[in-house]
Amino acid sequence: MPDLRHTDIQYLHGVGPKRAELLKKELGISTYYDLLYYFPFRYIDRSVINHINDLRGDEAAVQLKGRFLTFNTAGEGRKRRLQALFSDGTGTIEVVWFNRVASIQKTYNTQTEYILYGKPSVFNNHKNIVHPEVDLANAENVTQGLQGVYNLTEVLRNRSFTSRAIHKLVVNVLATPAVQHIDETLPPELVNRYRLMPLAEALQNIHLPTSQQALQRAQLRLKFEELFFLELNILHYIKGSSRRLVGHVFSRVGAYFHDFYNNVLQFPLTGAQKRVIREMRADMGSGKQMNRLLQGDVGSGKTIVAFMTALIALDNDYQACIMAPTEILAGQHLETIKPLAEAIGVKVALLTGSTRNKERDVIHESLMNGELQILIGTHALIEDTVQFRNLGLAIIDEQHRFGVAQRARLWSKNRTAPPHVLVMTATPIPRTLAMTVYGDLDVSIIDELPPGRKPVTTVLKHEPDRFKMYQFVGKQLREGRQAYIVYPLIEENEKLDLHALEQGFEQVKEVFSNYNVAMVHGRMKPAEKDYQMMLFATGRAHILVATTVIEVGVNVPNASVMVIEDAERFGLSQLHQLRGRVGRGADQSYCILMARSDLGRDTRHRLQVMTQTNDGFVVAEEDMKLRGPGDMEGTQQSGIAFNLHIANLAQDGQIIQLARNAAEDYLRIDPGLESLWGRKMTAHLRDLFDKQANWGLIS
Ligand code: ADP
Ligand code: MG
Repeated sequence: MPDLRHTDIQYLHGVGPKRAELLKKELGISTYYDLLYYFPFRYIDRSVINHINDLRGDEAAVQLKGRFLTFNTAGEGRKRRLQALFSDGTGTIEVVWFNRVASIQKTYNTQTEYILYGKPSVFNNHKNIVHPEVDLANAENVTQGLQGVYNLTEVLRNRSFTSRAIHKLVVNVLATPAVQHIDETLPPELVNRYRLMPLAEALQNIHLPTSQQALQRAQLRLKFEELFFLELNILHYIKGSSRRLVGHVFSRVGAYFHDFYNNVLQFPLTGAQKRVIREMRADMGSGKQMNRLLQGDVGSGKTIVAFMTALIALDNDYQACIMAPTEILAGQHLETIKPLAEAIGVKVALLTGSTRNKERDVIHESLMNGELQILIGTHALIEDTVQFRNLGLAIIDEQHRFGVAQRARLWSKNRTAPPHVLVMTATPIPRTLAMTVYGDLDVSIIDELPPGRKPVTTVLKHEPDRFKMYQFVGKQLREGRQAYIVYPLIEENEKLDLHALEQGFEQVKEVFSNYNVAMVHGRMKPAEKDYQMMLFATGRAHILVATTVIEVGVNVPNASVMVIEDAERFGLSQLHQLRGRVGRGADQSYCILMARSDLGRDTRHRLQVMTQTNDGFVVAEEDMKLRGPGDMEGTQQSGIAFNLHIANLAQDGQIIQLARNAAEDYLRIDPGLESLWGRKMTAHLRDLFDKQANWGLIS
């Protein structure tokens, strides 16, 4: 039996070298296997025949059955076209072709019955259809029922390589013996337990569904299979004990931790905070390297957890570092942590891009001799010149700004073994998905806010409400509160945005002439930025006009209003982050989304999600549904995932869970993947990764 993965597509009936070249270049299809796994992106129901009489012109696509009455060419040169009149007995419609006029005129005639498929338009009661697909009405190749629609490129379309043409090639590939007898990839007990459609049948039905129900079962089977192998890879190769690195053993919780807990900490920890500290303690004492993701909504108290985890490292004679994505944030961490650390005699320092050389030298030296115990900073931390005496724990705040590669660079900061790694993120995603996307990380979740927090009230407003919005902000200021007013700033039209920000700043100063207004944006010098931030943080400025530089982390508990201008230009998780800047004190806080009135449906929905929930998990889930998980840390580049053809990490949460369970169950019985099926599946996994040069972690 020829191997589908290695049989060149040019040998398929109907292809040949020229089309093979095109398929390779345009769609990445170079083998039988590639074509077989090139699935339709949607389906149309071709069992319905429409009547010309009934056409309104707003149909996405229609199918007509009848005869051509006349053919005429019209126009000259580039405007030359073929016009035909087509009748189905209920009415007539004009059919127009702009390409290949001569050959089309030769192919069709007025005697034969045809089926046309395409998008009609109706103008002044004149109906027409441009470049429809045309088939013989009595031919076998006219599909009954559902027909797959395949993605095409512009180049293919210009060469008249239609979805229909792909469909015909797929029919040919499905008819080859190698496909008819394709090997099942999943063990029979799995196929039975989850009542999955067998592979050969699923491949038939994904391309040529016999019914809506069969199509759904085929989709389920193929999604399940992809996700099962994804989870198997993660559980066995990435998280499996064989790959776990030896870690520093933190065997005790000692004086620093207890001193802090008993004498310095001002509030009782929430149950969730205690639980995640316990989870990390167990990890760091296990002898394996910890790689843990700490998820917690904005304001859930991750900083204190990070600090107490660092104290465990110190108690075992190790150093710790905390890396933040911006200087502002790193500075704030220092401000929060320094007094807590000093109260128990722990030395902390800040290292960023703007740390002076002299100070830098001092830091380098005290890191090497171990005097400096906790280093807080930005990317500056991962520079090669920064060497620790004995780094035991690296904490990364706000994961989404750091790539996998940067995380790996932290690993090399300890020569004997990589430090334990704690990654913190305030963009929570569902646990199963987190375990999949961040496949190499264990997940801890703080799913409880400190007591006494009132949920932020969020409203959506438009330009006509601007005056009322200012009145409301004014009322809060009179009560002694502070307010943020945030403007979007994106790279492409930075100038325009900056202009809007500065105009906004002037307007705000005018409206609130009795108050002090500060402003920060990303183009300012760090010193200027810090000064403006300080004005707001200390209460000397009442309003902070800002871009998203304040998005992460900034903590001013007295601020009770967050106004977001041009809110429609922000992503959901960004809006949630911004909203998290208020509601940090005990007072009721407000988030006002200012948006255009003529919002599209999706945008309005996105903004309404914000007004309906304060739960970061719900927001994140909605965000992923709308955007797809693509923006999250690239699974591809991390080497965890192969290309998914059909499963969607954002939308197939339930199937991910099923596949995860199935993979766990399987590994319980065959942990080394050594049985006949274990070896078969290992080979299949290799094939899946083989297509990608990036074979990375699973060698
Ligand atoms: P985030 O998870 O967004 O980083 P922070 O660590 O900045 O949240 O915490 C937000 C605020 O909540 C801080 O002012 C912090 O001191 C306070 N906080 C943290 N844990 C508790 C707790 N258990 N009880 C009361 N306040 C807490
Ligand atoms: Mg934080």
